[in-house]
Amino acid sequence: MIKVLVVEDDTQLVRALKINLQARKFEVETASDGGNALRVAASRKPDVILLDLGLPDMDGIDVIKRVRESSSVPILVLSARHTSEEKILALDAGADDYVTKPFSMDELLARLRAAVRRREIPAPADAVSVVTTDEFTVDLIAKKVRRGDRSVRLTPTEWHLLEILISNPGRLISQRQLLLDVWGPTYSEHTNYLRVYMAQLRRKLEADPSHPRYLITEPGMGYRFEG
Ligand code: CA
Repeated sequence: MIKVLVVEDDTQLVRALKINLQARKFEVETASDGGNALRVAASRKPDVILLDLGLPDMDGIDVIKRVRESSSVPILVLSARHTSEEKILALDAGADDYVTKPFSMDELLARLRAAVRRREIPAPADAVSVVTTDEFTVDLIAKKVRRGDRSVRLTPTEWHLLEILISNPGRLISQRQLLLDVWGPTYSEHTNYLRVYMAQLRRKLEADPSHPRYLITEPGMGYRFEG
């Protein structure tokens, strides 16, 4: 059962969220201010946090920063304020996604599931844990990449992209699927993100980044790892 911590001071909204989430077999914890949210997050270890930014005792952005000091739990932000600046602040502070009030319960649940799924390790029991090419070695369990005798540092986003491709050798993964898995449903049209991050990965992993041998682009379609 997925445990959700709902941080919200609007008691009616909390009640509605609780009923809907419990009906879909989520376990629900609640906190009505930032201080309680931090305490419950630390003691109950939720699988995902649904966080209102307008709280009575502290700014939701600060709650995100404090949670991120010790946890990578997915955080989905709820807010009535919807300037893009605030959204960027929340995402920069470490939120995973953002839903603007008023929202439909279906949309919220879809985003919630996506946020949880993105944090799960897609490794079935019989999956290969170490993938080796002539150029680099990827350890999917230890989450480490090596080129020759030196380790390669990847950002979390680069790692997530690489992990999906490497776990599906030879298979074309669509742009849409990658955007959905790595950035979430809000970003499913942002193919420019993919181009930027794939270029970074190639610079770090390919001998000739402009003529990639392993991280292959299928123009207009998606990307493929060729082992
Ligand atoms: Ca509020």
